[in-house]
Amino acid sequence: MKKKTNKYNIFQKIIKKEIKSKIIYQNDNLTAFEDINPKAPIHILIIPNKKIKNINQINIENKNIIIEMIFIAVKIAKKKKIEKKGYRLVINCNKDGGQEIPYLHIHLLGGRKLGSIG
Ligand code: 5GP
Repeated sequence: MKKKTNKYNIFQKIIKKEIKSKIIYQNDNLTAFEDINPKAPIHILIIPNKKIKNINQINIENKNIIIEMIFIAVKIAKKKKIEKKGYRLVINCNKDGGQEIPYLHIHLLGGRKLGSIG
């Protein structure tokens, strides 16, 4: 029987290219792809290839992935030529933080003036 894609494994399937998405960048450690429901003209998600549920799961062993995710987010922002006007990096965590997909991701948002955080 074919396994159903749910929010718990959707990003894993994007990494393995088992479901379609617009991948912007991929290396051995992480994948960056366009958000399916963009909140800004540029809305890209950067995720680790090895599943981490959320930012609470960052520890002494895996902390370097966060640096690499931010490094790649900035690289993409520069490639998209939004670094001078500006952009936003967001990490949502759990229910109050607005995290819908339980797989660590950084949102890169830009291409328009963003409102204040709330
Ligand atoms: P969160 O609310 O968890 O911080 O953000 C999850 C993000 O994942 C949302 O912006 C949502 O639009 C995006 N998303 C959910 N499902 C898919 C999908 O199947 N493909 C892509 N590319 N993005 C998705």
